[in-house]
Amino acid sequence: MNTRCPYCNYLATEHETLDNQKNPKEGDISFCIECGEVSKYFEGCLIPVDVYDLDKATRKEIRGIQTAWLRTKMILKTKQNRKVLKGEKP
Ligand SMILES: [Zn+2]
Repeated sequence: MNTRCPYCNYLATEHETLDNQKNPKEGDISFCIECGEVSKYFEGCLIPVDVYDLDKATRKEIRGIQTAWLRTKMILKTKQNRKVLKGEKP
């Protein structure tokens, strides 16, 4: 199943939902690995969602994912920058 991020238009082909199901179902929360925004699965596509409308447990879970995602992104970026400094192609 393919979905498109409503924020950055990133096309996601692989899905793992918060409760570890393979495909999103109605009302599921989705996290974009490209831009880090949160959206909701609604009538077959993703719509933007305000994190503050979600319950506390879900917000906490999302914060954890976002922290891990940011860390990974920073590590990748640092590696890329090092290569640029050394004159290698990123
Ligand atoms: Zn996105």
